[in-house]
Amino acid sequence: MRSKPLDALLPDSPAGLGLAPARLMWPIVARRHWALEELVRGVREGDRRALARAISLVENGDPVAYPLVREVYPETGKATVIGVTGPPGVGKSSLIAALVEHVRALGKSVGVVSVDPSSPFSKGALLGDRIRLADHFTDPGVYIRSMGTRGHLGGLAETTLQAVLLLDASGKDVVFVETVGAGQSEVEVTGIADTVLLVLMPGSGDSVQALKAGIMEIPDVIAVNKMDHPAAKTMLNEVRSIIGLAEPERRPAIILTEAVRGENVSELWETLERHRTGLAEDGRLEERRRRNLAGEVFAVAASRARSHLVAAVADDPELRRLLDAVESRELDPLTAVREIMEKVFRVDGADAR
Ligand code: GDP
Repeated sequence: MRSKPLDALLPDSPAGLGLAPARLMWPIVARRHWALEELVRGVREGDRRALARAISLVENGDPVAYPLVREVYPETGKATVIGVTGPPGVGKSSLIAALVEHVRALGKSVGVVSVDPSSPFSKGALLGDRIRLADHFTDPGVYIRSMGTRGHLGGLAETTLQAVLLLDASGKDVVFVETVGAGQSEVEVTGIADTVLLVLMPGSGDSVQALKAGIMEIPDVIAVNKMDHPAAKTMLNEVRSIIGLAEPERRPAIILTEAVRGENVSELWETLERHRTGLAEDGRLEERRRRNLAGEVFAVAASRARSHLVAAVADDPELRRLLDAVESRELDPLTAVREIMEKVFRVDGADAR
């Protein structure tokens, strides 16, 4: 059982439903025009197999993914998107599982996108104390998906954004995006989420230092998890004193939680909701989303420009010679940049600064 991938437990996965493997059922149809419409309809209706297929297309950089997301994009923006970040092992996944349970009890549908390779959502470690996670996989109101990095040029940030948009378009009321770390991760949830939750636990001293040094962006809400741990109160005080240095309007709410037994999870949810309501009430949510989306567009364009540049240099002996010439000090770096800008991006290298 432990060796089985998470996929095997997903209801929309082949093994979960006892169906033929999805990849045998879909690829031919997915490439035809009517299949795109079918996928768009399926995503809109929240059909989990359509959703699974759509996210796989996004993940694989399939050309169909582009018109698919373009088609459903006007319907997005309704979901509450919550980014959950923090070092490995602090209990992010456990806390998300507990939040999912809580939010389901409130009658809301939920999507989870996990971009944390150490996450049990990604690993399929659903035994023992995580059995409650497994319950969610069979709940039609919940869709859980872990994102892989497989060979997509646009990178994980791009695929994560697209996956979140698809879940949003599918009518999920709440979408959690889980990433490991903060400030070092390839995917910055701050760029996608309405609310960013940082999860810490007693012993997360490095993260507290990173917050203090300004290396880590100040989140909207902090959960000090594992409150059953004897050092939880000390950690709470430490976090409070750091946060106290921030400007009053940027000070996040801090809450102690116990994810396994679900202690303070309803309080945490209320805190997350309060943050978002506060933003929505005075127009800051709109502003934040506009900024986030502009940032995402910029980040994806920059990432593509970089991939384009790397590929162009690899394919062009003349460009590679430029780099060699810089290395042997025959050509200065900025002249090389100017020539590369002109050749690869067709912009006047003298202006492109
Ligand atoms: P993640 O890597 O941040 O997603 O952390 P996990 O959710 O995988 O949790 C790591 C370990 O901590 C698991 O063994 C959990 O059962 C355990 N854990 C999570 N939350 C709590 C908690 O509040 N108290 C205690 N004692 N253990 C917890």
